[in-house]
Amino acid sequence: MVFTGACLGSLEAEMKVKEKVEVDTVTDVVCDVCLCSTKANSGELEFATINACWGYGVRHDGERYELHLCEDCFFQAIADIRKHRRIHNLFNDDYDHNDNELGLMATDDYFHDGGIGKP
Ligand SMILES: [Zn+2]
Repeated sequence: MVFTGACLGSLEAEMKVKEKVEVDTVTDVVCDVCLCSTKANSGELEFATINACWGYGVRHDGERYELHLCEDCFFQAIADIRKHRRIHNLFNDDYDHNDNELGLMATDDYFHDGGIGKP
């Protein structure tokens, strides 16, 4: 059997089933602290995600948390955690009190490929 261009075109059209479908898409993520949009000037959504899933044997056993923070609120939270950490280790001689890189895993990681590693 030989299909001409016209026949092949109509055969392909019959094999492809098309219909319009409604798809939910995330268009914005609101910061859980300041309740502002996390959409950057570039149009991309830029936010931090904090997850916790507490397991057996702790007070919050079975509870699962997920928070989204904008850039400002994330770094404010990091500053608060760093302050709490310094107070918690006030009399610990082994603690580096100049730790300004808490949680920093890489820099220059523009393509999410690992960057150049922790400075
Ligand atoms: Zn925020």
